[in-house]
Amino acid sequence: MDYPFARRMYKIPRSFVREILKVTEDPDVISFAGGLPNPLSFPVEEVKKATSKVLDEEGEQVLQYSTTEGYTPLREFIARRYSHQGLDVDIDDIMITNGSQQCLDLVGKIFLNPDDGVVMERPTYLAAIQAFGLSEPEFHSVPLLEDGVDTAALDKLLKTEDIKLFYAVTSFQNPTGITYSQKKRKEVADILKDHETILVEDNPYGDIRFMGEDIPPIKSQLPDSVLFGTFSKIVSPGMRMGWIVAPPEVMDKLITAKQASDLHSNYFTQRVVYQYLQDNDVDGHIQNIRKLYKSQRDQMVKSIKEFLPREVKHTEPEGGMFLWITLPEGMSSLKLFEYAMEEKVAFVPGDAFYTDNPEPNTLRLNFSNCCEEDIVEGMQRLGDAIKKMK
Ligand code: PMP
Repeated sequence: MDYPFARRMYKIPRSFVREILKVTEDPDVISFAGGLPNPLSFPVEEVKKATSKVLDEEGEQVLQYSTTEGYTPLREFIARRYSHQGLDVDIDDIMITNGSQQCLDLVGKIFLNPDDGVVMERPTYLAAIQAFGLSEPEFHSVPLLEDGVDTAALDKLLKTEDIKLFYAVTSFQNPTGITYSQKKRKEVADILKDHETILVEDNPYGDIRFMGEDIPPIKSQLPDSVLFGTFSKIVSPGMRMGWIVAPPEVMDKLITAKQASDLHSNYFTQRVVYQYLQDNDVDGHIQNIRKLYKSQRDQMVKSIKEFLPREVKHTEPEGGMFLWITLPEGMSSLKLFEYAMEEKVAFVPGDAFYTDNPEPNTLRLNFSNCCEEDIVEGMQRLGDAIKKMK
């Protein structure tokens, strides 16, 4: 049957990453394509204990419906962590969501009419293009430089176009691994103070810094902005627990949109996550994740230098899970993907991460989900694929 789908469904790309993940189901393929945390970091036993505890102690209550904003002690925990990072957040300004992905959906719903202007980084997070895409906005993009967005280009764009939202992943960005410097964060805050544009700051990787100094989110300089967080990278992505921080007027609308969407996030899981956080040393756990990812990242950087041609450029992220490769001008990473499949190694071609002006010679590598042996072997295979294509 020719289903009469809504117009918006034709405007969003299907997730290229999901399509690629299908190809990489072959167990012989070494995949750097997915964006998965390392399962070694999942606190299985601790979550088991926390689950039994909440069921034993308050079983009937934790299986009941709850409030849209989320479990208050969990929101208090989040607010407390922010205050240690130099960001004062009121508990009422925090709502628990189904991962930070739902924040994107809710923000799109409450702010965007068709054709509204949205500025994305170039390149940007693929699923943000999808989530906002459902609201049929007009996407604009600003290049990402080594230390964050090109602020001169951002300033120019905001002066010439009507822009409602600027979406930025300010630490260890997906897909590039790039982090905004303190200077850049101030420049962005100063520019946005002069405009009506709202900063939507997505920070899922902020805790996974394994080198350099922690830098507070731009929200600390721009209280009117919206900030997302998540337990996906520090506890478990499968539990789908994230949160949104927003000023009261925005929160009011977010609560309405969230009620319409799912009433509230899984209350039982909120209670389990909170119990886990209460009974365990989460900072120690995060330190272990940082150590694990740093050695995987170091191995990948080392293997890139060893096995990929010298003209290949790469970012050297100080945290997070991704690294960005720029092949020599004229090379296509989509074409390279075919050769890479023959060599049984996978990555995500850069095209997927652009709303406009894609750079066909770029690609994303994930380093958090592979053991170090596979990283060495995988980079060797990628080097072979590049040589064969040349
Ligand atoms: N934003 C960015 C930039 C991400 O990389 C991810 C995870 N891939 C998300 C949001 C969504 O994460 P989650 O919904 O698991 O919190």
